Amino acid sequence: MRIRPLNIVYILFIVAGLTFVSCSRRDNTIRRTRLMFDTVVTITIYAETGNDLSPVFEAVWEELRAWETALDAYDTTAGLYRINSGDTITIEDKKIADALEIGLEYIQPTDSAFDIRVGGIVRLWDFTGEGHLPSENELIAVLQNARYPVELVDVTLIKSRNTALDPGGLGKGIAADAVAEILDTIEYIERYIIDLGGNIVANDRSGKPFVIGVRDPKSPDDVIASFTLQSGYSCATAGDYQRFFERDGVRYHHIIDPKTGRPSRKVSSVTVIAKEAVVADIISTALFVMGYEKGVLFLESSPEIRAVFFDTNGKYLGGNLEIEIIK
Ligand code: AMP
Ligand code: MG
Repeated sequence: MRIRPLNIVYILFIVAGLTFVSCSRRDNTIRRTRLMFDTVVTITIYAETGNDLSPVFEAVWEELRAWETALDAYDTTAGLYRINSGDTITIEDKKIADALEIGLEYIQPTDSAFDIRVGGIVRLWDFTGEGHLPSENELIAVLQNARYPVELVDVTLIKSRNTALDPGGLGKGIAADAVAEILDTIEYIERYIIDLGGNIVANDRSGKPFVIGVRDPKSPDDVIASFTLQSGYSCATAGDYQRFFERDGVRYHHIIDPKTGRPSRKVSSVTVIAKEAVVADIISTALFVMGYEKGVLFLESSPEIRAVFFDTNGKYLGGNLEIEIIK
């Protein structure tokens, strides 16, 4: 089992304007990093001097910890585990209800390419442990379980057959949006970059854009391309190198095609820009599963979303996100 904590997309360059701002004596830049959500979380805040950012960071970590705990499908003492261990249930934790609501909302529009009912399938593959290569019979059982209807009516989750829900494909995005909401209320913050394992929200009070690097899927320590992220927007990448195990030289990665119950092998990485980080998180996984041809059709009907695809050899395929290829 290999986890690559340093994720896919990260801040590559800072634009000239930002360099100027961060060098100005008026300003105060603090970057803090923690391991959360099984990945590297980095928060960078640029604020007017004379303001103590410690309470701000405390509030940010507290918010992230709350999301991490709420959405942990494996913690046997946590709410999601209980929800996944039974059928119809009232959800008391608002964070869980919000995450499941938005997750369920995207099953139909993505034709199940993004489908949080994959909980049982993901657990079977044991990506967070040693990794398990399931037999055909094991897969058939969990696939059936992942197809039963699940509905959230107010805070009542209606489901049957113990269908296990896995919000792992949207947890970092929804948490990044929640942190942005906190930082947006603080007047003396001039600019911030929230990076939850490559789920990024970046904002600048004066509207300066950001330049973001895309990791090379075949050599994830290298940058393959860059693009401009407008202030107030989010981006995320789904890549086959982020979490995987290998058996007999074959890589089994964590993005599952819910139709087959197996790792999707149409592309190696998809990077998405959307207004909200949770949407970028969800759609990056959805487009990864759809692959390029179906993904491009999806983008035609979603003009507010930009995406770029890299094929299984790590080569640029295309998309409606303008990028600069670096190598
Ligand atoms: P991310 O961490 O954002 O790359 O999302 C991947 C995680 O989402 C996996 O670890 C699974 O927990 C979950 N997942 C995998 N495949 C799917 C899928 N097709 N739809 C929804 N969630 C998925
Ligand atoms: Mg994601």
